[in-house]
Amino acid sequence: MISSRPKRSTRKVTIDTAFQDVVEQNKGETIRSLEKIIQLYNWNEIPDWQKDNEHIISGYVKETNSFFSCIESLFYLHNESVNVYSHLIPAVCFLMTSLLNKTIVPKFRTTTVLDYLYIDLFFLGAFTCLILSSTFHCFKSHSLRIATFGNKLDYLGIVVLISTSMISLLYYGFYDTPSLFYVFAFITLSFGLACATVSLKDKFRSRECRAYRATLFVCFGLSAVLPVICGLYHYGFYNTWHRIQLKWVLLEGVFYIFGAFLYGIRFPEKYTPGKYDIWGHSHQLFHILVVIAALCHFKALMCSYEHVHMFVIPSMLNILR
Ligand SMILES: [Zn+2]
Repeated sequence: MISSRPKRSTRKVTIDTAFQDVVEQNKGETIRSLEKIIQLYNWNEIPDWQKDNEHIISGYVKETNSFFSCIESLFYLHNESVNVYSHLIPAVCFLMTSLLNKTIVPKFRTTTVLDYLYIDLFFLGAFTCLILSSTFHCFKSHSLRIATFGNKLDYLGIVVLISTSMISLLYYGFYDTPSLFYVFAFITLSFGLACATVSLKDKFRSRECRAYRATLFVCFGLSAVLPVICGLYHYGFYNTWHRIQLKWVLLEGVFYIFGAFLYGIRFPEKYTPGKYDIWGHSHQLFHILVVIAALCHFKALMCSYEHVHMFVIPSMLNILR
């Protein structure tokens, strides 16, 4: 009995060693496959079509030709990760807000379904813009064809956001003068349609058109100045200031323009190439400023909605009495 003990012990050690070997082998294979998945490339290792910003030197996901690999790239850090998540997370938040608008939007006795529709129009516009942007950044490493298509949708999303932002606020700004609302809504839609058409043309997405693209979109945003001038003439400064919450709209414009400016001049990576590859390059700053600008618009819209229901509608009802 005593002599059998060492035999059992030797067998156990052998099994343990074999098990350890299998574990080590599997670990090695897992690490190798993970290394294969998360292999990142430098500027001079990626195909020409992927080259967009020469000041970002490393952290590239090389052309995958696989939607699955693009989705896998969501789970490791590369030079598009911040671009994806800086718009994906706010997109989900805007969608949730639109679904919960009955609890988030303060209710007045005069609140109607049209209020929810115009407020939701902005939420859905913001969601569309942000989700198209994050989808583009997730799949832009797939292939030239998918990157081109995604880039077009990315610009289309910006057009949708500007159009829906303006129309929702115009509704409250000219609440008691519907004819002016229709005129400016028509101008906004026409401008939006023109920008969308230009965005979908291949020529528009070339690197040479970068400054042109940024300028065009800023001009579209600045077309919001027209209804403001009209409002100042029609209602006076004090009323216009409160009707469209001018301070928030101005702040929104500053964030959009500043974001487009940083994107246009490629700050800060232009001055220290390679330092901001993963964190902090101009496109990421642009994304964050777009979200902050959209939040400013949200604040303007909510305050404008409250102003209309607290002051404009009661004074309209007083006139009718
Ligand atoms: Zn982007």
